[in-house]
Amino acid sequence: MTRSEDQLRLDIVEVGRRLWTRGFVASNDGNISVRLPGDRLLMTPTSVSKGFMSPEMMVITDMDGRLLSGEPGRKASSEILMHLVAYRHRPDVHAVVHAHPPLSTGFAVAGIPLDRAVLAEVVTTLGSIPIAEYGTPSTPELPAAVEPYIKTHDALLLANHGALALGRDLFAAYYKMETIEHFARISLVARLLGREHLLSREEVGRLQQLRGTYGIAAPAPVCMEDPPAGVDPSCQVVVAPSSPGERLVPDTSFLADVADGQVPVGNGGEIQLTYGQLTTLIEDAVRHLTARTTA
Ligand SMILES: [Zn+2]
Repeated sequence: MTRSEDQLRLDIVEVGRRLWTRGFVASNDGNISVRLPGDRLLMTPTSVSKGFMSPEMMVITDMDGRLLSGEPGRKASSEILMHLVAYRHRPDVHAVVHAHPPLSTGFAVAGIPLDRAVLAEVVTTLGSIPIAEYGTPSTPELPAAVEPYIKTHDALLLANHGALALGRDLFAAYYKMETIEHFARISLVARLLGREHLLSREEVGRLQQLRGTYGIAAPAPVCMEDPPAGVDPSCQVVVAPSSPGERLVPDTSFLADVADGQVPVGNGGEIQLTYGQLTTLIEDAVRHLTARTTA
């Protein structure tokens, strides 16, 4: 059932409230848009907290970003160019959500893509979450940076900036944003604990088949080869070691990075933390990431 414009305005208010409540945005960060019939876009305006919006605040533009209607003085979000490039390349996409969730933005600041085959759910739905190169926010640099990835991914990190999620409707895009941040949280905890068992290449192949079985729409297939540098990815590159006959493959290649002497390392390279130490580490990491991304 197609949702009315009035309902979509209420949906944007609700999604904005959830982004703010979950700490995915601070101050006036983030922006949300939805396709309207007649080649138009309904979008959040500039300079408002996403936690405290009302339906009449939204603006309507054409698909070139020209303002068609809105309250006096309201302008479309400064990131409208990034939204427009997504709609231009993806006719299947009807909503775009951009936010600065602290953990996924932390990975984007660290330059670490969320592309390891770790969670079956994420491999099946999103494939991988690559990092688009840095572009100055609100300039044409940002759409140019996301363009190569947007054709093949529904979820992206934006280097030193935040995250972007695309969906067939608004709540689908919002839930993808939740999945990005949840995956970043789990990945951070696994890395703090000092080991990450990856799904084997063969298991990832089985998960890819599930997409067909369950009719999961993905813009591109998963591939497990590194594409040549500088070439647009044509698939969702997932890091998964080949291990015929094994479903899970231990990977502790990042252990040296986290074992910096602060963390007690036991026999066999296992990092031993109390629950309190782990909580403090996570809170510390989040504080650092938040400070860096809002500075
Ligand atoms: Zn932003």
